[in-house]
Amino acid sequence: MSVLIYAESWNGKFKKTSFEAVSYGVELAAKMETEAIAVTINSETTEELYKYGVAKVILVKNEDLNNFAANSFSDTIKQVADKVSAHTVVMLASSNVNSFAPVLAVKWDASLATGVIAEPTSLDPFTVNRKVFSNKAHADVVLSKENKILVVAQNSFGIKENEVAGSTEEQSVSAAAPNLVSESVEMASGKVNLMDAEIVVSAGRGMKAAENWGMIEEMADILGAGTACSKPVSDIGWRTHEEHVGQTGKNIAPNLYFAIGISGAIQHVAGINSSKVIVAINTDDEAPIFKAADYGIVGDAFKVVPELIEKIKELKG
Ligand SMILES: Cc1cc2nc3c(=O)[nH]c(=O)nc-3n(C[C@H](O)[C@H](O)[C@H](O)COP(=O)(O)OP(=O)(O)OC[C@H]3O[C@@H](n4cnc5c(N)ncnc54)[C@H](O)[C@@H]3O)c2cc1C
Repeated sequence: MSVLIYAESWNGKFKKTSFEAVSYGVELAAKMETEAIAVTINSETTEELYKYGVAKVILVKNEDLNNFAANSFSDTIKQVADKVSAHTVVMLASSNVNSFAPVLAVKWDASLATGVIAEPTSLDPFTVNRKVFSNKAHADVVLSKENKILVVAQNSFGIKENEVAGSTEEQSVSAAAPNLVSESVEMASGKVNLMDAEIVVSAGRGMKAAENWGMIEEMADILGAGTACSKPVSDIGWRTHEEHVGQTGKNIAPNLYFAIGISGAIQHVAGINSSKVIVAINTDDEAPIFKAADYGIVGDAFKVVPELIEKIKELKG
């Protein structure tokens, strides 16, 4: 029995989420007194994973898997899980993982928990805490089948360095040919990938027009942050849909989220309420965003943001 950790890569390079997946999986395996094994598909190198405590890595190389398809990725993980006698698969939430985890659960006859935010509270029965109702509540769920899949929510566990000497075995897997042709294109317009960003500067309709986003980008730049927006902003075309966060957009969990000129409708908050600290800037002191915020500034973004930028520049020297 082992814990198999899926380390997702993009164009051969690991995503930050892979390191969190490995950190979680290694601790889970220790708790279960079993071995942690990572599996990755078409990654250029694997050594980076050893830094997070996994000593055994399986690298699947297959050109058919260059483009993501739920049927071929789920086939691949199932085959590897069977080969290494894993009964638990750990993955970190991403759009690809969210789409193939349920397919894997059906093919592998496994119990699936998504939105997992912590290690299991009990191994027998196997019980994990997960987000429910658009992140408004948490629930303890019991995974009753022998095979289990845990999809961990981003930034809920964190990345833990714990370097070990590792080895990688290359395996060929005859995955089912993709049943749909897909092309992967990274479209994030900001300099920092929104899903990986520790800090996110986000703005809404209060910005009035697309040409007013210069100060949002400047603030993101000096903070090394990703940029995001509310749904109507991307619907109008002021920003790309890649930046839209919320119930129907991306679900993010940065350490710091700035909501500028955003009302804080429940559908928006659903996508950002796992942020560690939320700072809201809004002219309306009754805007619902202040209920979700840890810090609030009642004021005009066109005055407040430039002042903030100056202050941040001063602090950064
Ligand atoms: C099924 C469904 C799904 C949805 N999914 C999403 C989703 O995923 N994400 C999402 O964001 N929305 C979503 N929505 C839309 C959501 O309900 C809100 O309409 C939307 O979030 C509002 O966007 P906003 O806050 O940018 O704009 P507004 O509601 O127009 O708010 C603008 C805010 O800016 C403030 N403001 C104005 N001028 C300034 C200024 N100069 N300085 C500072 N503040 C100022 C105002 O006081 C106001 O609070 C969804 C709606 C539905 C029905």
